Amino acid sequence: MPQVDPPEFTELLGLDTGELEEYMVSLGEPNYRGRQIYKWIYTRDVSSFYDMSDIPKELRRRLDSLAVISIPRVLKQRVSIDRTRKYLLELQDKKRVETVLIPQSDSKNARYTLCISTQVGCPVGCSFCATGQSGFQRNLSHHEIVGQVLGSRRELLKKVKAVDNEPLITNLVYMGMGEPLLNYDEVLQSIKLINDHKGINIGQRHITISTAGEARGIERLAKEKLQVTLAISLHACDDALRNQLVPMNRKYPLERLMRAVEFYSRENGRRITFEYILLDGVNMRRQDANNMIDILKPLLANVNLIPYNEVVGLPFKHPARAKTEQFCRWLQDGGLNATIREEHGADIEAACGQLRAEVRSQALRNY
Ligand code: SF4
Repeated sequence: MPQVDPPEFTELLGLDTGELEEYMVSLGEPNYRGRQIYKWIYTRDVSSFYDMSDIPKELRRRLDSLAVISIPRVLKQRVSIDRTRKYLLELQDKKRVETVLIPQSDSKNARYTLCISTQVGCPVGCSFCATGQSGFQRNLSHHEIVGQVLGSRRELLKKVKAVDNEPLITNLVYMGMGEPLLNYDEVLQSIKLINDHKGINIGQRHITISTAGEARGIERLAKEKLQVTLAISLHACDDALRNQLVPMNRKYPLERLMRAVEFYSRENGRRITFEYILLDGVNMRRQDANNMIDILKPLLANVNLIPYNEVVGLPFKHPARAKTEQFCRWLQDGGLNATIREEHGADIEAACGQLRAEVRSQALRNY
């Protein structure tokens, strides 16, 4: 029997209003059909044309034969004792990424910060990070990045009731698997869609891009003049140690990185967040605190100290509370705005540096 190629479907997820209008016009339909489909995708998380009740039945059938909306499916989920949720999502090519939903404690209604991934695996290879140890497979396209928001929200709505139609996901952090600025164009396109007030509608000031120090990407982002928060995963304040912990430091040493950060701060007038994972016996000496004060004091900076959550197979240890508090005090006494971040979801391996969907994919039964 001769092989028959499967039909090519057009991916509609990731298209903006104008592109969806154009697509519908190309099918001989009025352009307002594009706006209707936009609403179904980005405000109602719908991926089946048959569920689009304001589209004529015949057109729904036609669309189903021509196009797809690939909102990733949640394969497995885990819920922490602190209500943090971790979702394992499957992409079209069966690759898997993880998202984490963190409940906001300061809100009386159910509200979540969503942490999303930008790559399958990560090429940076930070020595303390489960994702970094699992290697790099590929970049995510912008529709796969946006799809994580829709897929996670759709799943969350099955479990948690929105109050008075208030949005459940109000903040977004690009801090999951991967280095966002190594997938710059797709990340930028995803921000535009996520920010659109007619669709997902998460304000730029509620979006954080976290980078291990991709200095050229930081400078590029600065020129976009977005109001997103930039977070730098610092983790060490001298080049010798940072080279070991965050290998990207060999390409962009601290002095080069800080030049890019200053440029971002100048261009956008925004406070920069610095994430610092506390590794017992590694980066918590008095000298480390002094180095950080020297580097960060001239900047508008917030420092988040994150006690390390241990990863099976890696040698790093969680620090004692007293040591964590001491380190924080040193920074505060030196004039830095430093706080200890409560870690969420450590019991379900959803905390910083603990995501590794691909490595765990063989162990899904345990999910
Ligand atoms: S910490 Fe971030 S940048 Fe470093 S390896 Fe892990 S995912 Fe990549």
